[in-house]
Amino acid sequence: MTVIADLIIRNGAIRTMDEDRPTAQSLAVLGNRIIRIGSEAECQPLEGPETRVIDARGATVLPGFNEAHLHIFGGSVSLQQLSVATVKGVEDLAARIAEWRAQNPGLGFIVGHSAPYNFISDERMPRREDLDRACPDLPVFISSADHHTAWANTAALKLAGIERGAALPPGSEVVLDADGLANGELREAPAMNLIYSLSPSGGRDLLGAVTTAEDSGITPEERSEDMAALRKGLAYCARNGITSIQNMDGNYYQLDMLRELHANGELPVRVRVPYLFKPGTAVEAIGNAADWREEFQSDFLTSDFIKIFADGVVESGTAVLVGDYADAPGHNGTLLFSDADFNEAVILADSLGLQVAVHAIGDGAVHQVLNAYQAAREANGGRDARHRIEHIELLQESDFPRFAELGVVGSMQPAHPPEAMDFPAETYLPRIGAEREGIAFRTRELLDAGVPLVFSSDWPVARLAPLDSVKAAVMRRPWREGGKDQSVTVDQALHAYTRAGAWVEFKETQKGKLAPGYLADIVILDTDLTKVAPSEFSNVSIAVTICNARVTYAKDDAI
Ligand SMILES: [Zn+2]
Repeated sequence: MTVIADLIIRNGAIRTMDEDRPTAQSLAVLGNRIIRIGSEAECQPLEGPETRVIDARGATVLPGFNEAHLHIFGGSVSLQQLSVATVKGVEDLAARIAEWRAQNPGLGFIVGHSAPYNFISDERMPRREDLDRACPDLPVFISSADHHTAWANTAALKLAGIERGAALPPGSEVVLDADGLANGELREAPAMNLIYSLSPSGGRDLLGAVTTAEDSGITPEERSEDMAALRKGLAYCARNGITSIQNMDGNYYQLDMLRELHANGELPVRVRVPYLFKPGTAVEAIGNAADWREEFQSDFLTSDFIKIFADGVVESGTAVLVGDYADAPGHNGTLLFSDADFNEAVILADSLGLQVAVHAIGDGAVHQVLNAYQAAREANGGRDARHRIEHIELLQESDFPRFAELGVVGSMQPAHPPEAMDFPAETYLPRIGAEREGIAFRTRELLDAGVPLVFSSDWPVARLAPLDSVKAAVMRRPWREGGKDQSVTVDQALHAYTRAGAWVEFKETQKGKLAPGYLADIVILDTDLTKVAPSEFSNVSIAVTICNARVTYAKDDAI
C-alpha cells in the first residue's frame, strides 16, 4: 500500500538542522509528523489528489523557531499599550502621549512600555517631573524595555499612595529623593505592581513574575480580557515563525488560561511555563512544581521546570556584580536569595528531577548560581539536568570553565548587548566600566568552549522576530577597537533558535529538526537566506508557519 501524504512542501531551500541530511528540497507530512524529506523526486510519489501542496518558492525552510525565553502574557498585553521604544526627550514623550490619547479616546491611565533607560536624557534617569510635564492630568506609568524598572508621574504615585515610598522585599524599591519623596523610579516587579495593578490591564500580565498559585480574585470579565490579549500574543508568535515558546514567568492563572485555549484548539504554538520560586517562600513549595509537571504534560502545554530570579539588571543597579559598579563606588547590587537558601532550593528542585532556569545578569549572581548547580551535583549526583542560566551578561574568568564542567546551558539574547539592537551603550557601559567589557555577553566564547546555547528575544524586552535576533547575533561588533569578537555564524544562530531550543526542553527526539518521525513544526521564509546579507535579515519576512501540521500563519498570497 502506498502512503499518501497530507501535506507536501516543495521547491524549498530546506535547512533541516539534521547533520545526516543538512539540506533538502521537499518534505512530506502525514498526521502531525514528517514522514519523508529529500529531493522533489523522493517526495513527489507521496502526493495524492487530497494532498495539500505548499510551494516554498525557493525560499528557506526551517524547523519552526523555538523562542527559549519570553514573557507571553506581558508581551501580549504590550501589543495594546503605547510603545516608548523610540521616544527621546520630554517633548517627544508629550507628543506621543497626545497622539495616543487621540487614538484611544476616554483613556484614564497611560501605560507605556519598552522605554530605553535614556528615553528622557542620556545623562540621568527619568523623574516624575519629566512625566508630569509630558502628561500632568492622567496617571502615567512607563516600564523599561527589560521590565525591571518603571517610572511614574505624580498622579500615578498619588493614586497608589506611595509618594513617600513603600515597604518592599529586598531588591525592590520605590526610589526616594533625599527629602523622602518618591522621585518616580520603581525598581523591580513588587514596586512596579503597586501602580501597574491600578492600570487598565490590572497588572495581571506581570503577576507571573511575583505570584505562583495564589487565588488571584480575578473576575470573569477580567479573565476574558486576558484571554483575548493572550490570543493576540500567541498569534503574533505564529506570525513571527515561532512554533514553540518557553515562558520565563508564570503562575497558575496563566497556565489555566493556556489550558483552556489548548482545549479549544486555539494554541498556535507549543507553550512551556515554569513554576516560579520566589524569595521568602518556604523551600517545600518546590514540591508543587512536581505536581504541575504531572498536571500539564501535553504536546502543547507543559510546566516542567523552575524559574528563579537571582538578581535584577545592570541599568538600575540591581544586577549583582563581583566588585563595585564602575559609576557607584561601594555598590554592587543585592542578591535576592542568601547562598544557603538558594542552594537549598536548587538542590531540592534537582533532586525532584526538575530543570532549573535562573535569571542571573551580574557576574556575582552568575557565580552564586554556578555554586548552586555544583552543590546540587555533589548532593544528588550528576545527571543530564540541562540546568540553565538566563542572560549571563557578565561572566568572570574564573567561572567561565565551570559552564562546560557542570554542563550548564547558556540562555542568551542576541538583542540585549548594548548597540546590538535597540539598547543604547550610554546607560550600560559606564555602569560596568571599560575593564568589564571583555567579560560581557560572551556569546561566541561560550559556544567555542562547547557550552550549549539557546537564543531568544525575551519579548517584550526586545522585538520578538527571531530573524532580528539572528541578525543581531551575527552582526555583533565590539564596543571599541581591539574588543573581543563575540559574533556567531548564521548557522550557529539558527541552531540556537531551533534545535538547541528543543534540546533544552528535553524534546530533541520530537522537534528542532526536520527529519522523518519529527513533529511537523515548520517555518517557510519569503526568501532564500543564503542569498541575503545578514544586515538585511530584518527585511526577510515569514511566508508560512506550520505547527503540528496546521498552518498557523500565512502571509497574504503565500499559499
Ligand atoms: Zn525575561
